[in-house]
Amino acid sequence: MRTSVIGGNWKMNPTSLEEAISLANAVSKEYDGSKGEAVIFPPFPFLGPVKETIDGSSIHLGAQSIFFEDKGAYTGAVAASMVKSMGCTHVLAGHSERRSIFKDDDMAINRKVLKILEAGMIPVLCIGETKEEYDAKLVESVCAIQLAKDLAGVTAEQMKTIVIAYEPVWAIGTGLVCPADVAQSTHAYIRKKLGDMYSPEVAEEVRIQYGGSVTPDSVDELMSMPDIDGCLVGGASLLADSFVRILNYEE
Ligand code: 13P
Repeated sequence: MRTSVIGGNWKMNPTSLEEAISLANAVSKEYDGSKGEAVIFPPFPFLGPVKETIDGSSIHLGAQSIFFEDKGAYTGAVAASMVKSMGCTHVLAGHSERRSIFKDDDMAINRKVLKILEAGMIPVLCIGETKEEYDAKLVESVCAIQLAKDLAGVTAEQMKTIVIAYEPVWAIGTGLVCPADVAQSTHAYIRKKLGDMYSPEVAEEVRIQYGGSVTPDSVDELMSMPDIDGCLVGGASLLADSFVRILNYEE
């Protein structure tokens, strides 16, 4: 039985420390941890204060990215050991905004995944197709290629700890949530692919999140699907009430 995992990816929001603390405070006070693992991913500067705010609650702290080198002359970059020492337990890798805006390619994403594992944290590997790829019926091949490249060198034991976030790019921030049955069939495909790459036993343990315009209105149906083990939430994670309702999904 897989423990569900729901993440709130704040992206480059909110824009002040006061708002970040207030959001973290409201979420951590309202969610009791009974539904499963909950993680918030604030921007780097807010990690420390947010960690203090959520300490003692059931909310975990995550980072939105890391650079794959350990330390040195890499202006603007943040190492895995740094976010680990701030209390992060999870780190996103391969988010579509990192791929498209910051040009993170599969080679860089793979190195990041390995670094996050080496630092003892849980990588949340984001994959998914663009609208053009969706229209061209390339969903499965895009996911298969990203999984193969981004997980190169990951052992079976490590794979069991990794969370995969399936985020169709066309559903991110658009209000166009992927229909639950369509998302389910892609999740089932991802699990089958992981079974081929590792073993059916490993694939059974891997948690696969859906991401893309998840709201309180869509979460329950998504979470009722057998291969959807969680959600990665953007916009709706910035409103405490909405995010807490999502955390308390009803199947
Ligand atoms: P939205 O929920 O705003 O569509 O963002 C999804 C996302 O990118 C989560 O990582």
